[in-house]
Amino acid sequence: MAKLIIIGAGASGLSAASRLVEKGFDPAKITILEAENRIGGRILTVPHGSSLIELGAQWVHGHEGNVVHPLAAAAGEIRTDIHTLESTGYADDVEMAYRDGRKITPVQLNEFKKILQSIYDDSKKELAQWDKSLGEYFESKFGEHLNRGSFTTMNRSTALDLLDWAHRSQNIEDGSDNWNDTSGVGSLEYHECEGDYTTVWKRGYSVLFDILMKNVPKTSNGLKLSLSDRIQLNSPVNLIRWNSAPSSGVQVVCSDKTYYADMVLITCSLGVLKDRADKLFTPLLPEKKRRAIEALGFGTVNKIFLEFRKPWWTSEWGGVNFITDPSKATGEWEDRVLGFSTVRGQPNLLISWVTGSAARQFETRSEDEVLMKCSTMLRTAVGTDFAYEEPTRVIRSLWQSNPHFCGSYSFRSKKSIELDVCPSDLAEPVIDSNGSARLFFAGEATHDHRYSTVHAAVETGWREADRIVEHVKETNFTAKL
Ligand SMILES: Cc1cc2nc3c(=O)[nH]c(=O)nc-3n(C[C@H](O)[C@H](O)[C@H](O)COP(=O)(O)OP(=O)(O)OC[C@H]3O[C@@H](n4cnc5c(N)ncnc54)[C@H](O)[C@@H]3O)c2cc1C
Repeated sequence: MAKLIIIGAGASGLSAASRLVEKGFDPAKITILEAENRIGGRILTVPHGSSLIELGAQWVHGHEGNVVHPLAAAAGEIRTDIHTLESTGYADDVEMAYRDGRKITPVQLNEFKKILQSIYDDSKKELAQWDKSLGEYFESKFGEHLNRGSFTTMNRSTALDLLDWAHRSQNIEDGSDNWNDTSGVGSLEYHECEGDYTTVWKRGYSVLFDILMKNVPKTSNGLKLSLSDRIQLNSPVNLIRWNSAPSSGVQVVCSDKTYYADMVLITCSLGVLKDRADKLFTPLLPEKKRRAIEALGFGTVNKIFLEFRKPWWTSEWGGVNFITDPSKATGEWEDRVLGFSTVRGQPNLLISWVTGSAARQFETRSEDEVLMKCSTMLRTAVGTDFAYEEPTRVIRSLWQSNPHFCGSYSFRSKKSIELDVCPSDLAEPVIDSNGSARLFFAGEATHDHRYSTVHAAVETGWREADRIVEHVKETNFTAKL
């Protein structure tokens, strides 16, 4: 029977494992090596009070064509009682304020949102012919509006300060450091699923793993085995020897043990591959694969939760976004913090986001500094509207500095278009000098159209499981499946 090692117990790795077992692969022949002390990868649901918070994925983005939605819905795990958009910014109940407390009026905000929306609508038709970055598209269209006098409620510099906020918000969507890194035409490769974009799970996204791993216990040599028995936590893989002795398969080296397999499915993030593919694989991966790793984009997006003893805001208040006056910018991470908004099901928390190089700098700063700076910004932006009270704690994600992720999610960079590279290049199996497929690749960044999401990760896990089953059938492993 063919032996398989799966590197990574995130959404793609565990989807692949469950599909393989469903298709008859003996679970005893699968070993899942996970670097962290937990499963889930970039899904990280953390209990908080009587509810939970998500430090990684939170939303099921749409339902048509989203493979996660039916899994969650069939299990009765979709939360149907709330439909309001939890704000990453554009919700109507979220205000905008300069960090010195000056507020943007509702009339100004409406005008800005209307103009920005018209640029978004045009972009769907025009980006196909746009060979520059997404940022250059938005800046040039916005400039046209400024020049033709579309803004009647604010001056040019206020409009540009609001555009800077829209840029930060777009970075959360794209996962890129800067919208000038995102390809304009490439961004059309991302296909949205129709339906509510911010559907949430009743008991948190990590319930996905219970669903994936349920129904697949199998017997091997009379022993009842489940997939969870096949997962080795705290097992970072340091080296994959995939072609040194072609007939003997692949060696996978962890610090305390070397594993042997016929095939390896790699599901580490693109960030991990960018950071150390040249050290992880020996021999080096083929040139085409290395080019894909280099050229596809992978950025940093972090969440910041502030905890308060009790809410000092009212139920009508959705939050406040921060606008940075360039003449008062500090050049530090706090210039790029989006603002704070309320969190569904968590009455004492407010959430913010920070992206790109600011997010990386933020990760190097102490919790005390983060708490103090965020609180100062929030207090000033709220002004005298409420009797503000200091937060008691900060809870935050650190996706970049964790060596098992090295960032948050992938995007279609300008460079990937220039070098004519796409996610399916990253997905292509690697074949040894004997002609056997040895290395398979899954993970969100290997999906041509739904990259950056959990549903992409799940689909790519299933895709590679099917590919592995076909490969096993076509080779001399056939009789053993
Ligand atoms: C802040 C944030 C918010 C997000 N929000 C959403 C959202 O709302 N909706 C959505 O659909 N998606 C969202 N995403 C994206 C989504 O979380 C990911 O696309 C998805 O979880 C990726 O799954 P994966 O299996 O491809 O990779 P991962 O989850 O990264 O799994 C790979 C696994 O490999 C392990 N690993 C890495 N290196 C090694 C090694 N050397 N040896 C052994 N194991 C290793 C890692 O520890 C990890 O567990 C968000 C992500 C972030 C960071």
